[in-house]
Amino acid sequence: MRFDIITIFPRMFDSIFSAGVVKKAVEKGIIEIKIHDLRDFTTDKHRQVDDRPYGGLEGMVLKPEPIFRAVEEIRQPVESLTCLLSPQGKTFNSALAEKLAGYQQVILICGRYEGVDERVIEHLVDEEISIGDYVLTGGELAAAVVVDAVSRFVPGVVGKEESVRHDSFTEGLLDFPQYTRPRDFRGYRVPSVLFSGDHKKIARWRLKKALEKTLVRRPDLLKTRKLSSEEEELLIEIQKERKES
Ligand code: SAM
Repeated sequence: MRFDIITIFPRMFDSIFSAGVVKKAVEKGIIEIKIHDLRDFTTDKHRQVDDRPYGGLEGMVLKPEPIFRAVEEIRQPVESLTCLLSPQGKTFNSALAEKLAGYQQVILICGRYEGVDERVIEHLVDEEISIGDYVLTGGELAAAVVVDAVSRFVPGVVGKEESVRHDSFTEGLLDFPQYTRPRDFRGYRVPSVLFSGDHKKIARWRLKKALEKTLVRRPDLLKTRKLSSEEEELLIEIQKERKES
C-alpha cells in the first residue's frame, strides 16, 4: 500500500516515520510513504501556494492550482483515495482506518493557514478526515496519525495480526488489561488467573475485563455491538458485581 502526503512542510515528517513499526513496514516494502512538497507543483518563480481570501478577511488560503496539479500527477491508476485533513471532516476512527487500508493508494492533503480553496473539496477530494474536534495549525500531524493507524490494518505490518484483532475498537470493545513482569510490583499483584495455564479461563477473564472497561468508559460502543451469549452472560455478572460493590 502507498501513502502520498502533500504538504508545505515536508521536513515535519523526517523523524515521525523513522522509528518503530511503520519504519519496519517501509523497509520490508509492505507500505510506501512518499512526501511531496506542494511548492514543487507551483509554476511561478515565487513558488506561491497561498493567497488572500476573496471577500476580505484575515489569513491566507491554499490555492487550488498546485493542489490539483499535485494530486493529478501523484494519483496512480490503481484503487486510489484522495483525502483532505480537515477539522470539518468525518471523525477518524478504527472503522475508517480499516476502510482506508483497503485502498492501494491513499493521498493525504495537509491544509495550512485558513484551509484550502473550497473547489479542492468540491471537485478533487473523495474524503475529508478530522482527527478530532479541535483545530490544529496544519494537517501534517493529522496525516501522520492516519498513516500510522491505517498501516496497522495492512497485512504484515503488525507482527501478529492477532494483536490488532484484540486492540481497542477493532472488535467494538476496549482492550483488556495487560501485565508483564514482575509478578509483584510494590505489592501490586498481577491477577492470578493469568498464571493458571488454563487458556479458556484466561480468555473468559480477558473478555470480561474488556466488557467491563467498555461498559464503564465507552458504553456507547456496547449499544452498537451484537453481543454473543457469553458476552451477555458476562455483562450480567459484571453489572451484578458492580451493584454489590
Ligand atoms: N479554518 C479552518 C476551519 O475552521 O475549518 C481551520 C484551518 S486549520 C488552522 C489549518 C489546517 O489544519 C486545516 O486545513 C487542516 O488541514 C488541518 N487541521 C486542523 N485541525 C484538524 C483536525 N482536527 N483534523 C484534521 N486536520 C486538521
